[in-house]
Amino acid sequence: MPHCAPVHMTNKEKKIIIVGGGFAGVATALRFEKKKIPNTKIVLLVDRPHFEYHGALYRTVTGSSPLEVCIPLRDIFKDTDVEVLEDKVASINKTEQVVLGSSGSRYHYDYLVIGVGSVTNFFSIEGLDKYSYGMKTVSEAIRLKQHIVETLLTCKIDFTNKLEQICDAHFIVIGAGATGVELAAEIVVYAKKLATEYGIDPSLVSVDLIEAAPRILPGLPESFTKRIEHHLRGLGVNIFLNRSIEREEYESVYLKDMQMKARTVIWTAGVRANDLYAATGLQVDKRGKAEVDEYLRAVGETNIFIGGDGANTLRSGMAQTALDHGKHIAEVIAALILEKKLPVHREHEPIYAIPSGPGWAGILWGNFKLYGKSGWAVRRLVDFIVFVHVLPLGKAIKIFQTNQSICDSCSICSVEAPHKHD
Ligand SMILES: Cc1cc2nc3c(=O)[nH]c(=O)nc-3n(C[C@H](O)[C@H](O)[C@H](O)COP(=O)(O)OP(=O)(O)OC[C@H]3O[C@@H](n4cnc5c(N)ncnc54)[C@H](O)[C@@H]3O)c2cc1C
Repeated sequence: MPHCAPVHMTNKEKKIIIVGGGFAGVATALRFEKKKIPNTKIVLLVDRPHFEYHGALYRTVTGSSPLEVCIPLRDIFKDTDVEVLEDKVASINKTEQVVLGSSGSRYHYDYLVIGVGSVTNFFSIEGLDKYSYGMKTVSEAIRLKQHIVETLLTCKIDFTNKLEQICDAHFIVIGAGATGVELAAEIVVYAKKLATEYGIDPSLVSVDLIEAAPRILPGLPESFTKRIEHHLRGLGVNIFLNRSIEREEYESVYLKDMQMKARTVIWTAGVRANDLYAATGLQVDKRGKAEVDEYLRAVGETNIFIGGDGANTLRSGMAQTALDHGKHIAEVIAALILEKKLPVHREHEPIYAIPSGPGWAGILWGNFKLYGKSGWAVRRLVDFIVFVHVLPLGKAIKIFQTNQSICDSCSICSVEAPHKHD
């Protein structure tokens, strides 16, 4: 179908199926629902009952409430006509226009939006999936937090020998992208504080940040990242550049020219698009992201849209971009149904807000740069804007003020991840 060709309108209800309850999926559903277009039905298919705010996961690891990063989808869609169904999508039959859930249910669609995000990529490096900690979900963050606390407690109780204490209080973060930087900075401050509380010499705590590229935050300009690097070193983070990991074994990491001993290795260095995009037979790039046209429609498809991390656009991989995709997809589907001209998508310059330890962040917006406490205030404002996008203002303010989520109970967010070596 040519881009602006009108869709044949009948009185029959048009069904919009959205797969994924992350930034892109939620934004599409909320924006489309607000339009109250007659004879339309929106169904959100999700594999978990809550929305996760990954941007605040690092604070969960270092002691903040896990509830802050977890918002039940039922609260987001409480006063809307969006139907939220929990069913992990197993496959999509494009010919029949049917989504197949793991439950065995079949969902017919007129328009399909896929926003299933990305997954951790270990690049087939030996031992990584078995021995390292991930940082992609609330349950992984909670597991890491428990591990850090237990590690320092064990350190005090079990080891009087300083060498063993050093190994135990050694944390290795692999990957100095935004997630690795914010995590390393938080952990060094948090672990030293815990060590002092537990009566362990805080100078035994060490945090190493390992990066394969010649500098930290390689995707951002060096004129911006230099100060963040300086601040990290000031906090006590040891930064190793030009080092890639070759393999991991129990309590050991092997780089090209050195071996490091540590009980805690956290992998933040790779994500790839969810396999569902390729499995659906969509055109994907080498990272598994679906190719899209100027309407965020999957290339070669007439009624399938891709939003968020899974869309191959210039700035996908950020929450702000995913929110923007979701809203735009809603506008395009509405235009198709109402037989209006389709709006062309233009991606906005995002604000890069990199927290680096408690109360400190670096901000980059175009050529504008800001660091320190004021940067931190901007970062919190960005967090607040995210909450406002997915929740009514009153609830967003409540979460933000109390630093807690409106989850009735923590249980839906803190599902135990399978334990690895600990
Ligand atoms: C630790 C961390 C920190 C980050 N910090 C920032 C930050 O500070 N700023 C920023 O802009 N971005 C940040 N990001 C990136 C940001 O989180 C992503 O870009 C954003 O979440 C992408 O949104 P999305 O909708 O594409 O995917 P997601 O938000 O990941 O949502 C995917 C949804 O799909 C669901 N799903 C997956 N598979 C299925 C299936 N088969 N069936 C049904 N549902 C399924 C998932 O449960 C989830 O609801 C961070 C990411 C991480 C991991």
